[in-house]
Amino acid sequence: MNIIEVHRLSKDYVMGDQVVHALRAIDLTVEPGEFVAIMGPSGSGKSTFMNLIGCLDRPTNGEYLLNGEAVARMNDNALADVRNRYLGFIFQNFNLLPRTSAIKNVELPLMYAGSKNRHEKAKAALELVGLGQRMDHKPSELSGGQQQRVAIARAIVNEPVLLLADEPTGNLDSHTSEEIMAVFQDLNHDGKTVVIVTHEEEIALHCKRIIRFKDGRIMVDEKVKKQTNAREVLQKMPNPDDPPIVVTA
Ligand code: ADP
Repeated sequence: MNIIEVHRLSKDYVMGDQVVHALRAIDLTVEPGEFVAIMGPSGSGKSTFMNLIGCLDRPTNGEYLLNGEAVARMNDNALADVRNRYLGFIFQNFNLLPRTSAIKNVELPLMYAGSKNRHEKAKAALELVGLGQRMDHKPSELSGGQQQRVAIARAIVNEPVLLLADEPTGNLDSHTSEEIMAVFQDLNHDGKTVVIVTHEEEIALHCKRIIRFKDGRIMVDEKVKKQTNAREVLQKMPNPDDPPIVVTA
């Protein structure tokens, strides 16, 4: 079964007497285990598309099957339920609760879902993203990269079928971005389906497939021929926190 199946998906916004065609009859399939980058210039429809895929909004026309469930015409409650069951979200600004420890942040979705063994599950998710030692720290006591790891742990703790990330490296330096892409690549390697929006070509090349939007349409849908391996890049990349190398004559 496909994770995402979209047929003739459209979204119009009515602004006074004008209609903006933000998405124009998109067709798209994403299979389990894919790692997709969504690209395109500002105004091309990326956010509209992600909002629909993330069940945060409904299309004007067309069909959307998420993990086999028809969601295009669900009401708000049903959409919220689908979001909780199937999706994990990661944002550019991490969106963590600032005065709440890392582990409590990760436990939140488990609370909404009424899950048992919340502490153990949240701990396991934090360990998976390499933050087992920082569980009791508040976001303000963590670096940007560590905060994004907490956000990823929060997104995966409910075992969603799809991870959706909106510019997940947009606020991070290049070394930290590479570390975050390594986490996504590990998760994808373990079978997780991942869709990210990015405007950086270098980041997109860490994915397996790039979909380029323009004027509400998919202009290019291509397989990445040589996927960048984040861990290989990190091995060659100096860590900005290391002392500078001084060359003396
Ligand atoms: P992107 O994320 O690629 O920048 P968007 O999906 O935000 O593109 O926007 C696609 C088009 O839809 C743009 O022309 C934008 O102005 C318009 N648009 C987006 N959201 C709204 C909205 N809530 N109301 C009216 N127009 C919108």
